[in-house]
Amino acid sequence: MHAVMARRRGISVVQLEREPEARGASVRNFGLLWVSGRRAGPELALALRARELWEQIAAGAPGTGFRPAGSLTLATDEAELRVLREAAALPDAKERDFELLDAGAVRAVNPALGGEFLGGLFCRADAIVEPRQALPALRASLAGPGYEWLPGRTAVEIVAHGVRDHTGRWHRGDLVIVCTGANFTGLCGVPAGLRRVRLQMLQTEPFAQRLTTAVADGDSLRYYPAYDVPGRSLLAPQPAAAAAARAQLLLVQRADGGLTIGDTHEYEEPFAFDVDEDAYDHLRARAQALLGVPLPRTRRRWAGVYSEVDGGVVGGAAGGVVGGAAGGNTALYHRSRLAPGVVLVTGPGGRGMTCSPAIAEETFR
Ligand SMILES: Cc1cc2nc3c(=O)[nH]c(=O)nc-3n(C[C@H](O)[C@H](O)[C@H](O)COP(=O)(O)OP(=O)(O)OC[C@H]3O[C@@H](n4cnc5c(N)ncnc54)[C@H](O)[C@@H]3O)c2cc1C
Repeated sequence: MHAVMARRRGISVVQLEREPEARGASVRNFGLLWVSGRRAGPELALALRARELWEQIAAGAPGTGFRPAGSLTLATDEAELRVLREAAALPDAKERDFELLDAGAVRAVNPALGGEFLGGLFCRADAIVEPRQALPALRASLAGPGYEWLPGRTAVEIVAHGVRDHTGRWHRGDLVIVCTGANFTGLCGVPAGLRRVRLQMLQTEPFAQRLTTAVADGDSLRYYPAYDVPGRSLLAPQPAAAAAARAQLLLVQRADGGLTIGDTHEYEEPFAFDVDEDAYDHLRARAQALLGVPLPRTRRRWAGVYSEVDGGVVGGAAGGVVGGAAGGNTALYHRSRLAPGVVLVTGPGGRGMTCSPAIAEETFR
């Protein structure tokens, strides 16, 4: 997205990627452009700006699969429904385009939801992109003079206004933007105030019906700051497998009909190198209960790691941190100066796919 936003400003870009094709968090995610769960204030503002930018950018890069599908967060008991009701009554509910629906109205919006639930919160502002296609599609939209894509090049050294790749070639420019995600070794060490989080995901064979929206379950109310309302303290404890994996159900139908289902949250390193089946059993059962029909066979399982600012206050590797839209101490992501003309931008956490265009816009601003 930094390349996209640079080209929009007429700046020539050389983009280095260590892999033949990106394999990091940006291709392993749900592709959810998730406005619904964002914290009121600067985080919501950043997500809304990003949502607007995504729509513009996708118009020139239809291969990203952008669709303004919206989402439904479903309540299966009274406590969850109360949280949804409170969220729908907050002053910024209009900005998120929230509407509280009963079970019948939920099914009218998304007829594939044939399972058991009491109601749902419809967020029309949420959208979906195809993460496996988005990066090549964005690059295709940039192809031409002024954009050079160099895959299979690991950046190994940074100096003022320059970076050297592992072949020994130097790349120099007005600005070097280091977006190395959760890769904390090598170039810039471990930036202070960042931690990594590992998530487990799965994707099924194509599902027979079409889901018109993305779907979240009541466990997502525990994790997203938008639902920090009085009723949240009354939520029943999670099932043991879900609590152990810090799981919430998010469900997105891919363009090919498959269902992407997740996720879990692991914070302590070293991370497991293998995936845990208990968490998958829980997530599949949850999805099945909301859809009301058996799920197709799982076709793929994977884990992904993102980096996030930890606790809000971050210290830059050198030269301090710009706190994103928030300013001050409550950074929504990490931006610091590594050398003159060299900026590190990472740590957007679970909102990186959503907020990336707005983060890039702020870098150039
Ligand atoms: C499973 C999962 C689900 C998620 N779901 C969502 C979601 O639905 N919505 C949302 O908003 N966010 C989601 N996120 C978060 C989002 O995906 C991340 O915040 C975002 O993709 C981070 O982007 P990034 O560019 O910082 O990192 P990455 O996408 O990891 O990119 C870093 C890139 O830098 C390359 N690299 C690293 N070191 C070097 C080097 N030395 N030289 C050259 N190249 C290098 C890597 O190969 C990689 O391609 C999810 C994350 C995960 C893991």
